[in-house]
Amino acid sequence: MDLGIAGKRALVCAASKGLGRGCASALARNGVDVTITARTEAALRAAADEIAAATGQKVSVVAGDITTADGRAAALAACPEPDILINNAGGPPPGDFREWDEAEWLSACTANMITPILLIKATVDGMMARGFGRIVNITSSSVKAPIASLGLSNGARSGLTGFVAGIARQTVEHNVTINNLLPGRFDTDRLHAGFAHAAKTTGQPAAAVAAGVMAQIPAKRFGRPDEFGEFCAFLCSAQAGYITGQNLLIDGGAYPGTY
Ligand code: NAP
Repeated sequence: MDLGIAGKRALVCAASKGLGRGCASALARNGVDVTITARTEAALRAAADEIAAATGQKVSVVAGDITTADGRAAALAACPEPDILINNAGGPPPGDFREWDEAEWLSACTANMITPILLIKATVDGMMARGFGRIVNITSSSVKAPIASLGLSNGARSGLTGFVAGIARQTVEHNVTINNLLPGRFDTDRLHAGFAHAAKTTGQPAAAVAAGVMAQIPAKRFGRPDEFGEFCAFLCSAQAGYITGQNLLIDGGAYPGTY
């Protein structure tokens, strides 16, 4: 299927590995010129080289912390008029809410709520003026079904979800859609860091924790970043212009609800 986005420009945040990289790779496979960001420059450059070699597309890099004003300014300087914006950043740490002070809450809200909102603000008017835009925010299945140990994520991402629900209805008449992609369990370093944390608190080996979690997923496996990326690329396609303001779970059937 031709997604109709060859030649478009995408800014993909936090994309040297994991889900962000999956999105960048899928967009590049569909002919999009991508700019990827991450904090660790060597890994970022290596990822860009691999994506470029695999797809033949131009892949630019911006090293920096996307949750800071400087990091966002650098990303927007490298890709000032993106047609596609993929908002992503590291997730907040797990823990007990009694341990978190104001600074930890502000950090989670900055990374997982305010940063994507500021990047939307910086790019959405240009997209509307040009008559095409696709914004995808990588959030979490925790927005639909909270994960007890991830209170910072449950809270901060819900703030973004509420904002997007309003703005996404104001941009779609200009062919600019804004949607949230909600990953369940995907086989990335972040997922395995969570298992390591659970192993410490339960005394079980991390592999046993992982096996227990996997057994609860109807698909009986973790998701792959490349299949997450393919779904993201479809949401960014020309064909997806009538999908906006949605929270789309991709979780192997883990969410147990009917709706
Ligand atoms: P990952 O494999 O650990 O990859 C994270 C990527 O983001 C890396 O490229 C990392 O590079 C970059 N990054 C992290 N913080 C950054 C920052 N402040 N500025 C710029 N780049 C940054 O993580 P992932 O599993 O893909 O997770 C991506 C997002 O999805 C996270 O918010 C996570 O909480 C959420 N999520 C993941 C899952 C899952 O199962 N994997 C489930 C639900 C939600 P550097 O470290 O070099 O910056």
